[in-house]
Amino acid sequence: MTAKFHSIFLAMLCVLTLPLHAAKSPNFIIILADDLGYGDLGCYGHPTIKTPNLDRMAAEGMRFTDFYVAACVCTPSRAALMTGRLPIRSGMAGSHQHHVLMANSTGGLPENEITIAQALKTKGYATACIGKWHLGHEPQYLPTHRGFDYFYGLRYSNDMEPTAKIPRDASGREVQDPEWWNPTLLQNDKILEQPTDLSTLTERYTKEAVKFIEQNKKGPFFLYFPHTFPHVPLFANKKFQGKSLRGVYGDVVEEIDWSVGQILEALKKNHLTENTFVFFTSDNGPWLVKNQTGGSAGPLRDGKGSTWEGGMREPGIAWWPGKIKPGTVNHNIACSMDLFPTLCGWAGASIPTDRIMDGVDMSGLLFDTGPDLRQTMIYYYGSDFFAFRQGDYKAHFVTHTGYGKDPAVPHDPPLLFNLEKDPGERFNVAAEHPDIIANIRKEVEKYQANLVPGKPEY
Ligand code: MG
Repeated sequence: MTAKFHSIFLAMLCVLTLPLHAAKSPNFIIILADDLGYGDLGCYGHPTIKTPNLDRMAAEGMRFTDFYVAACVCTPSRAALMTGRLPIRSGMAGSHQHHVLMANSTGGLPENEITIAQALKTKGYATACIGKWHLGHEPQYLPTHRGFDYFYGLRYSNDMEPTAKIPRDASGREVQDPEWWNPTLLQNDKILEQPTDLSTLTERYTKEAVKFIEQNKKGPFFLYFPHTFPHVPLFANKKFQGKSLRGVYGDVVEEIDWSVGQILEALKKNHLTENTFVFFTSDNGPWLVKNQTGGSAGPLRDGKGSTWEGGMREPGIAWWPGKIKPGTVNHNIACSMDLFPTLCGWAGASIPTDRIMDGVDMSGLLFDTGPDLRQTMIYYYGSDFFAFRQGDYKAHFVTHTGYGKDPAVPHDPPLLFNLEKDPGERFNVAAEHPDIIANIRKEVEKYQANLVPGKPEY
């Protein structure tokens, strides 16, 4: 056997000994709405907003009833999703002065934090962030410096670049004048458009997302798709204007639903459905003080800016045909921070061991193959601990109305609600369950004992 023939023979042997269907690394898509409430989708009971694509996604996949984000406003919620860690640990929790990064903030997600995108890059994933970032807008904090190959979107919220022509309280008006706003659209690190036409933004995000899927169909890829809407000011595309019975808020949500349909369609067209996990949620609850331009938390109490359930419990829909049993409704506690270890686990990417991770692998819940690793949920308001859920019970040690001017109210003993029987948190049962409160206190102490808050970024 010549040396050349020998090496060809060895190569053939290697090919033949590989499994016939070697497992391909799965693709991941996280779609994040902004300020969408728990009650704003058809499949979560909204009476008039039509969301056939999200309803179908839930019917073909799994709908969570107790899915949480880790904060009740944009920036800390996104920091937690990206890192799998509570925002208090990264310094991205905010203060009573500023709950989110503002246009004049100079901080951002610290460079020693590891994003999902950075973790997946180690396994050769193509990565894109299409939509609103809000984790720092100085150059070193932009998505392209935080593990994303591509960024197309706004650096922060759509109400953060007003013009001099803006009237007072303009952001929550149903009828908007584009002249009031001067938002900046970025492509990677470069300004693409200013002022940005907000009425075509969802459509353009969607086209970019579909293009990214098509360009990377050989995989593996990670698409992070954080929508700019339904955060106010609301702008819907002409095709959706005046179509919903719920007014402009409904128009905007129905356009996001259309966008979800386009993403699922692109996966079908490119034969990617069996190898792609899609997850839909929102960064925080509805902005209730915006009246008709704010969403609905359905049966839950309060909304954005509050640690009552309406601020942090969100729609959560998981979709992966062939892997997730269709039409499943899951009542276990799950959290946006759980996506980090779950996706990294499936990709074979290592999960950081030099820091505390708050997310837990949710594969067992999604595939119905293992135990629920999350039994608790912790609620922060800025950098302050407010509430704790263990199983069915939630104890409020401090409460605050979302965006209300009332001061925070401490409670000792804490207020206690059974969230399964009383999702609206109306009936305080603390007096009947001192044992449950004692248990929760122990859990909170255990948790606080090893907490090292990060240096505040804003
Ligand atoms: Mg938000």
